[in-house]
Amino acid sequence: MDNKFSIIGNNRNICLQISAAMLNNDKCCSVHIAEKNGLDGLISEQFDILSNGRIILVFRNEELKDVTEVFYRRGFFVLSIFPWDTHRFDDNKAAESVIMIDNKNPRLDYVEIEVSRGCNLNCKGCNEFSNLLDKSSFGDLESTKRDLLRLKDLFWGIGKIRLMGGEPLMNPDFPEFVKATREIFPDCDLRLLSNGILIPKLSREDLQMVKECNCSFDISVYPPVKKMLKRIKKRLDENGVPYTLSLKNSYFFKSLLKEPLRSPVESFNNCLFTHCHGINDGYLSACTNQMYAYRLNEAFGLNFPTEDKIDLSSTELDGWAINRVFSQPHEFCRYCGQGMVPYRWETCPAHKAKAEDWLIEPTFLNVKVAPLVQKMLKNPAKWLRSKIRKPRTERR
Ligand code: SF4
Ligand code: SF4
Repeated sequence: MDNKFSIIGNNRNICLQISAAMLNNDKCCSVHIAEKNGLDGLISEQFDILSNGRIILVFRNEELKDVTEVFYRRGFFVLSIFPWDTHRFDDNKAAESVIMIDNKNPRLDYVEIEVSRGCNLNCKGCNEFSNLLDKSSFGDLESTKRDLLRLKDLFWGIGKIRLMGGEPLMNPDFPEFVKATREIFPDCDLRLLSNGILIPKLSREDLQMVKECNCSFDISVYPPVKKMLKRIKKRLDENGVPYTLSLKNSYFFKSLLKEPLRSPVESFNNCLFTHCHGINDGYLSACTNQMYAYRLNEAFGLNFPTEDKIDLSSTELDGWAINRVFSQPHEFCRYCGQGMVPYRWETCPAHKAKAEDWLIEPTFLNVKVAPLVQKMLKNPAKWLRSKIRKPRTERR
């Protein structure tokens, strides 16, 4: 029975491709085309067969968290997956293309990793407060590997991991971050979030490493980047590295309140970024806004709460409990006005920066009206982001 594979998924072509590759390797396969919400019924119908063979789940990367939870609830703990929208199936390496997982643990949606603290752009009001920081200060590779390995004990996988900064390409070791992250989390949708300025200067070897690790670029197209966009795209296209481009926006938004709201609930419920978890120096935070707010405290003598994070070395929570904690509002959400006040993009080095670059006034418009607008825009914005977020390249 060991050779009996059940391939279950919602992409018929890829399921059949995997099945053909398995048959070439003398593995006997059955293929079931199903959407997420039909899985319970399918498991009931095929329970004996599924229990006595191996299962390969072929779904979009972001669907796999929910899909594997259906199998967890029905007692299936050893599974293989293939995220068809972010990974490529290699017929000659069928067994290596699918990823075995320990489904006793859940999946975490998303994690951000700070590869470099400083940035070569110094945007006013930078979300990571990079314009306040030393340009030669980098994330620590060994500590990042330790944190990722600890996450691996708690979660079978991570939906998306973004290596970022500051500007991650300023760290000469950035390819090592890419490699280590891919090795530890083969399932993730791996991205480098960059302003793109250094891309034309990257070596062919570094770009090949990015490509081989199935990593892509998310490029933030800020005003100084617009005029070099052709060169950036050419360099990536020549090397077959996929990328997304943000909207060409000349505006930034700020939304932090100096004084807390009475309740964190409304901000959290309206928030577009509730899954922006981050790791840093042994800690996992629900939201990177909260994780890096200590930088504002240090620079301007503010008092944002910074203790609300999980110590990865001593936590007694398992992955399921962490996901439950992260699905609730946390203390820092009381400081998120959600007013999203726009201002024109400009550079602002540390000596010119003021707390007001990040803080909004608690006016009726900012605290009452703007959140309602944001609430209305939440679903359309999510849909739009999913449409423009698929990495592409002109040439592969
Ligand atoms: S490019 Fe990004 S990381 Fe760099 S300063 Fe601007 S917003 Fe911050
Ligand atoms: S602190 Fe809360 S409301 Fe603000 S961005 Fe983070 S999760 Fe969203």
